[in-house]
Amino acid sequence: MARTPTLLASYVEAQAHDAVVRHNDVLSPGLRRLVLASTDFLGATIEPCDVTAFRVARTAFRHYTPARVVGDELTIVVQRHDHPGPTPGHDLVEGWVPGDPVKVCRWSSARAFTWALGGDRPVVLLGDATVISLALCMADRAAREGRELLTVLEVPALDVAATQALLPDATVLPALEVPGAVVDAWLRANVEALRLLEAPVAYLAGNGPAIQRQRTLLRDVVGLDRRAVRTQPYWAEGKVGL
Ligand SMILES: Cc1cc2nc3c(=O)[nH]c(=O)nc-3n(C[C@H](O)[C@H](O)[C@H](O)COP(=O)(O)OP(=O)(O)OC[C@H]3O[C@@H](n4cnc5c(N)ncnc54)[C@H](O)[C@@H]3O)c2cc1C
Repeated sequence: MARTPTLLASYVEAQAHDAVVRHNDVLSPGLRRLVLASTDFLGATIEPCDVTAFRVARTAFRHYTPARVVGDELTIVVQRHDHPGPTPGHDLVEGWVPGDPVKVCRWSSARAFTWALGGDRPVVLLGDATVISLALCMADRAAREGRELLTVLEVPALDVAATQALLPDATVLPALEVPGAVVDAWLRANVEALRLLEAPVAYLAGNGPAIQRQRTLLRDVVGLDRRAVRTQPYWAEGKVGL
């Protein structure tokens, strides 16, 4: 993400919800579940693809995806990525303890990456450990709407069991070294099954280069229409704060 001018960053933060950390739990070596509480969240709603942010410096934010709001609690699942520092978003979240005050930026989604696309068509969601929150939010919504949802995530091997417990209906695969390689292989192995879905909408999130490859596979190999494939890079090697 480009740096945000200080004045604008302060304005965004001034509009944020005042919350406190209620829980900050390590679910598995690479996953953390944040539960943030605020009276603002009572009655609040989230749409799949909504994004919030935390300010990490005078001119910088990091983005995260609200998974669920229940009562006064907002849940977000965060990957404890082990990229050598500086990693201000990762470090900020790692350091939070119950009772800490937190400013939760107001959430919204990008016009080209929202749940509303595609009406009641089946949904395919592909991603990695940074996409677990989005997958949770989509699973809740798809169940409420009776919409078909096919989720395939690759996560570090030590996080597979915890991810599967959060998302029992998803296909959760152990990742290899190259981000996205396992989902690529899954796509190639499941072309016929994907072709059986009636006019699906595909959401690709997570690692930037992986998303580009998977978009090409969905278009050129599976045969999806260009407009049926929606992408949202969450991180890319060597890039800070997308
Ligand atoms: C719209 C949106 C929604 C997001 N939602 C979530 C979410 O719900 N949960 C979640 O965990 N993340 C989510 N992310 C990803 C998260 O914002 C990035 O991982 C972010 O880069 C973390 O900031 P940082 O300060 O730790 O690292 P940065 O300062 O941004 O990056 C430092 C270095 O770490 C590397 N890096 C960053 N993230 C990863 C990673 N996951 N794996 C390996 N290397 C990495 C970068 O390539 C860079 O070289 C989302 C991102 C976007 C854009």
